[in-house]
Amino acid sequence: MKKKPSCKTRTINGEKGHERKQHMLKHVGYYIGRDDIPRMTTLSIPLAECQRDCQDCHSPWLKTSEGVDLAESLPGLIEKYKPFIQCICFLGEGDDTKALLDALRLCKQAKLQTALYSGAEYLEDIPVYQLLQPNAKRELDYLKVGQFKQDYGDLDCISTNQRMFEHTAVGWVNITRDFRVERR
Ligand code: SF4
Repeated sequence: MKKKPSCKTRTINGEKGHERKQHMLKHVGYYIGRDDIPRMTTLSIPLAECQRDCQDCHSPWLKTSEGVDLAESLPGLIEKYKPFIQCICFLGEGDDTKALLDALRLCKQAKLQTALYSGAEYLEDIPVYQLLQPNAKRELDYLKVGQFKQDYGDLDCISTNQRMFEHTAVGWVNITRDFRVERR
């Protein structure tokens, strides 16, 4: 989930919208670590049916529909791991913006920080970001943008094209540099 400008444009399903058929949001496993969000132990959940088109996609299996229903898994994962984590990070956006928003809200109800890794080039290109405005602070705390380009490296590389933003009281702040500070 590190990304590009030729991202497919998608019809956005507003919370009351019903223009596009809803699909379930699927995930492919999960892991816990401290690499995805600076200074936080994070439960990271890769989402299936990625609609992005990163130049050097590192996880092509996430572009298929293989996966299990996140709505069924997430409550149990939160209950099991909440004592050990501070944040839940969704890797990719899947193909159901409304279901993603529901998942973010469930995490916030559990008083966990929330994060999303997107392959979109800009925050404004992310459907769930558009739905959240202007109340994004309630549902989403961290957003990663930029497609994955092998030659530019990951977030902890000084040459990276990707950016991590944190939603603060003064708006979305670029904290990409924190990845390099954290790992010195
Ligand atoms: S966001 Fe990019 S790297 Fe991740 S699965 Fe989608 S196309 Fe691949």
